[in-house]
Amino acid sequence: MSYDPLVSPAVDSSTPAPDTYWHATSQPTSFEALDGAHDTDFLIIGGGYTGLSAALELTEKQSGRVTLIDSHSMGFGCAGRNAGFVLSGSGRLGPLALAKKFGPATARAIQNEYDEAVTQLLQHIETYDIACDVAPGPYYKLAHTAGQARSQTNSLDQLAGQFGSQATALDRHALQQQLSVKGFYGATVQPGYGLNPLKLADGLACAARDSGAQLFGQTPALKLDHNQAGYTVWTPTGRINATKVLIASNAYSSKQFHPCIDSRQFPVQSSILVTEPLSDGELASIGLNAPATMMDTRMMKYYYRLLPDNRILFGGRGEVTGKAASAGKARLFNAMVSSFPVLNHKPVSHFWSGWVSVSLDSLPRVYFDHTQNLGYAMGYCGAGVSFANFAGRRLAQQAMGDTDLPDIPLYTSPLPRYPLAGLRRLGLRALYAWARVAERV
Ligand SMILES: Cc1cc2nc3c(=O)[nH]c(=O)nc-3n(C[C@H](O)[C@H](O)[C@H](O)COP(=O)(O)OP(=O)(O)OC[C@H]3O[C@@H](n4cnc5c(N)ncnc54)[C@H](O)[C@@H]3O)c2cc1C
Repeated sequence: MSYDPLVSPAVDSSTPAPDTYWHATSQPTSFEALDGAHDTDFLIIGGGYTGLSAALELTEKQSGRVTLIDSHSMGFGCAGRNAGFVLSGSGRLGPLALAKKFGPATARAIQNEYDEAVTQLLQHIETYDIACDVAPGPYYKLAHTAGQARSQTNSLDQLAGQFGSQATALDRHALQQQLSVKGFYGATVQPGYGLNPLKLADGLACAARDSGAQLFGQTPALKLDHNQAGYTVWTPTGRINATKVLIASNAYSSKQFHPCIDSRQFPVQSSILVTEPLSDGELASIGLNAPATMMDTRMMKYYYRLLPDNRILFGGRGEVTGKAASAGKARLFNAMVSSFPVLNHKPVSHFWSGWVSVSLDSLPRVYFDHTQNLGYAMGYCGAGVSFANFAGRRLAQQAMGDTDLPDIPLYTSPLPRYPLAGLRRLGLRALYAWARVAERV
């Protein structure tokens, strides 16, 4: 059975690599397990973008000894399973929703961080020479109703004026001329990027190792004991004494790991299929002949892109439990065919699922408690390729005592606790039942 954070006690280090297109087509660097006793100044738990970029920031600033452990392998979680969209944003609140909730100045400050996250990611890729197939190309946000198309068009001026957005609108006709995708009423289009997420994680891991961090794979943190000197963290074959601990285990955190994160994020499954490569005729008939990323405006979004070897990657919400994960394949395939009918008989080469970390108020958090010498960054709600990488840096800065961070709720408040956390999956089932009718997903 695949890992289910609300059921399984912990990620099983001995399971094979996830069955993704990314893992099938590249071989990430492996890191040995920790054996015996180990001392460090900063211990990072989790080897995805958050943890790896925190490690890089700490080593670059020569802040002390830096150790990172992952239950399985670097990129085992979302970092090696995502769709590779590089988006300026995280959580589920767009700039206008942020402005409504926090006022224009705070919304702008949050958006600045999201924009800077994209810039920093591209800089990391360049500085560390990470070959992760970055493909610039348009990012289409596809309106699934006429009302959504109108509201997209109506908000363009505000988004440009207040948030520097470069999006332009396409009406239904213009969209059809650019992209033969069925069932949409218009779109906005702006610059975007796609990349290979596992190669990115591997590149960050090698950069962190080369700059002096010690990385261990197959090393789950089983228990954290707080003591006068800091923490003792127990692993199956060793123990680590650390002054400060940074939790970067995201939705892959087990159900009862530490009170600072337990019941404060909800692991929700997202699934992806990848087709066999499209022929030139198929590409021409769907209007795609260059890299592009697409996402629709549904609450239960579908997202898709053309991969460099001309396959379609198509993703959307997964099933409620890990046990049911494979049941989503047919639903995703049907959704793909309703957008691109010509792919009706296209064979699927890969299908997989991953857990995204959803916060109660739809905002991610990067929060370090100096009284406990313990912090975390998570709650990206499925949008973390750029922001998790940035959040790791912000978490490291907080752990080093940097007080010069923007004064925004992302950094100043902890993740809110879910009331009735035990009923989260019941609520999710109800939401999916509603979406099946209201959004035809
Ligand atoms: C199917 C899917 C598609 C997505 N597509 C996109 C996209 O296109 N664009 C985008 O911006 N975002 C996307 N996301 C979200 C994005 O991938 C995540 O937000 C991001 O990768 C989070 O990185 P992370 O480092 O915080 O966590 P993760 O990459 O999930 O890493 C957490 C790590 O912690 C480890 N771990 C857990 N518990 C322990 C423990 N006790 N001890 C040691 N290690 C532990 C796990 O093994 C795991 O490797 C997608 C996610 C999924 C699942």
